[in-house]
Amino acid sequence: MADLRREINEHNVRYYVYDEPSVSDADYDALMRELQALEAEHPALLRPDSPTQRVGAAPLAEFGSVRHAVPMLSLGNAFESDEVQAFDKRVADTLRGAGLLGADARVDYFCELKLDGLAISLRYENGELVQAATRGDGQEGEDVTANIRTIRAIPLRLQGVPPRVLEVRGEVLMNRADFERLNQAQAARGEKIFVNPRNAAAGSLRQLDPRITAQRPLRFFAYGWGEIRGVQGSDRAQSDMFAAVTADDAALPRDTHGSMLQWLAGFGLPVNVKYNRQARGATGLLDFYQHVGRIRPDLPYDIDGVVYKVDALAAQKVLGFVARAPRFAVAHKFPAEEATTQLLDIEVQVGRTGAITPVARLAPVFVGGVTVTNATLHNEDEIRRKDVRVGDTVIVRRAGDVIPEVVGPVLEKRARDLPLFVMPTACPVCGSAIEKLEDEAIARCTGGLFCAAQRKQTLLHAAGRKALDIEGLGEKLVDQLVDSGRIKSLADIYSLNVDELAVLDRMGRKSAENLVQAIDRARTPTLGRLLFALGIRHVGETTARDTARHFGSIAAILDADEDALLAVHDVGPVVAGSIRRFFAEPHNRQIVAQLREQGVEPVAQAEPQGTSLAGKTFVLTGTLPTWSRDDATRHILAAGGKVSGSVSKKTAYVVAGEEAGSKLAKARELGVTVLDEDALKALLGL
Ligand code: NAD
Repeated sequence: MADLRREINEHNVRYYVYDEPSVSDADYDALMRELQALEAEHPALLRPDSPTQRVGAAPLAEFGSVRHAVPMLSLGNAFESDEVQAFDKRVADTLRGAGLLGADARVDYFCELKLDGLAISLRYENGELVQAATRGDGQEGEDVTANIRTIRAIPLRLQGVPPRVLEVRGEVLMNRADFERLNQAQAARGEKIFVNPRNAAAGSLRQLDPRITAQRPLRFFAYGWGEIRGVQGSDRAQSDMFAAVTADDAALPRDTHGSMLQWLAGFGLPVNVKYNRQARGATGLLDFYQHVGRIRPDLPYDIDGVVYKVDALAAQKVLGFVARAPRFAVAHKFPAEEATTQLLDIEVQVGRTGAITPVARLAPVFVGGVTVTNATLHNEDEIRRKDVRVGDTVIVRRAGDVIPEVVGPVLEKRARDLPLFVMPTACPVCGSAIEKLEDEAIARCTGGLFCAAQRKQTLLHAAGRKALDIEGLGEKLVDQLVDSGRIKSLADIYSLNVDELAVLDRMGRKSAENLVQAIDRARTPTLGRLLFALGIRHVGETTARDTARHFGSIAAILDADEDALLAVHDVGPVVAGSIRRFFAEPHNRQIVAQLREQGVEPVAQAEPQGTSLAGKTFVLTGTLPTWSRDDATRHILAAGGKVSGSVSKKTAYVVAGEEAGSKLAKARELGVTVLDEDALKALLGL
């Protein structure tokens, strides 16, 4: 226990005082939980100075210190839904015992996002900002008034008729986009790179020179309050969830947490009205958690969970506090998006267009809800910039469905000098030279389709759902077929037969038959799909379809010069040049010829004529019950409709699913017809 206390205290100082953590939050939380478990098991060994009993760390001496009139506490944590249910049960039992909740009634909560920044207390006297302090160790924080004054979201003077003393508590944070820009600028100047927006926000606010803070894009949201005096003649110290003193509700202007926040907003203080919600009982809380989990990747800032607070202030008072946190609130955390692990090796991967991507091989680590063993390192410059080396302890990030990436090394853990990563000069797959053009960050294998890696990726691309849609032709199979030399070009797919497929690894007769049928179906793709399947650089699905519609036959495209290509809707010089160069290559023309020999006959694109949907614009929003966005788009396009990203007066229909947001609201406002998935299918005659 002593070891754990020491280790956690060290992490606290690095994290809270120097904004330079050396372990991920998940690792830190695990240590904290271990200590808490030991303390629960051996209450006699619980020490009042244990980090489980205290908040944060002592303030940095360089700043003046501020004693909080009402302490700033932390929050209890829940990671699993049964912990949330247990929290709700404890609250309900206590409130029933106190006669504040009926036998069958459920507790009303106020739910907020758990913003991942740093807590701040703003003191207004007679409506004027007089002091701002960090949380510090909860009792005493740092005086950061001069820095806080540079944040535009924070009013220097309150609107309306504020109380004589008003302490507002909230979070200072940095949006992700601002964080990326800041780090780019820092790198360009050769200055410190921040590991995440939280550290950037904390480091920016805790600057000794306010002129630096002024240049940093910080934001603020209020979620609580401290001392309040002089509201409607009352003159007593008040408390909120962060207060350890007794509250006298009679003197507070409102009786619920939610309405208190509204009251604060009335003074011009930013409150997160967009996402704050009321909820009833544990089911209500868990619904909110699910909802926020879904929108989390689209939020402009990082959150590490949600916070549930008992809404009625009288009930909060009855529930009271434990050592470092209120009993009436809990933070429900999301699986950590960052974790630390060992970087075992850096290998390079070859993509379809020959792009060489360095990939980190990692000791398995649980992050963002899955076990990660590989992460992208983007390119050589990025590895240099981050100074990541094989043998390092690294921070790995996996946010939402984004592919995992290595954020950077933990330099304190680099025991000895490690060698720098050097990009190979020859392709690890085919041995061709690797070339990097001056104006590109990406290095490429020059082997083209001679390179087995590029060939495999090209085949997988061609078999993909948006291209020839050959179900069952996956990575494992393509690996075997290319490695054995059975498939050399796209056209070879069409000569595969059941007997040879059935004996391959992970195949049986039935799957081989299914695959051959799928291949047969792919003998009559639309011209657009075939063009897309060829994998011409810069030719995406839409460009392929437009080009196909314009020319009507593969022969016409094969011989089109740049001017002819430029006549296609939305095709510019880069795309036109790329298409022309592709078909100027004899081996690409040969592939087209081979495809014809194999009986591949593209069918003309169904022209959207005569249907009532021709030219009508659709906008998709939210998640549909059974169709993905791609499915819906494909069907709408096939029926001659268009799909657009934004709602306007010209929009014919908005197709809305679950979690539909502002686009649905806009549709209602403009009176645009809204369809659900079934109605869309009916309209399409499906
Ligand atoms: P916390 O961050 O888990 O929760 C309390 C804080 O939440 C408040 O102080 C406030 O700043 C914030 N908050 C955000 N939105 C809020 C809202 N709507 N209402 C109320 N509060 C809100 O607690 P903590 O004690 O500051 O820190 C513990 C966390 O910090 C842990 O999760 C841990 O992972 C991390 N930590 C990491 C290290 C490390 O070395 N990596 C060290 C110390 C702490």
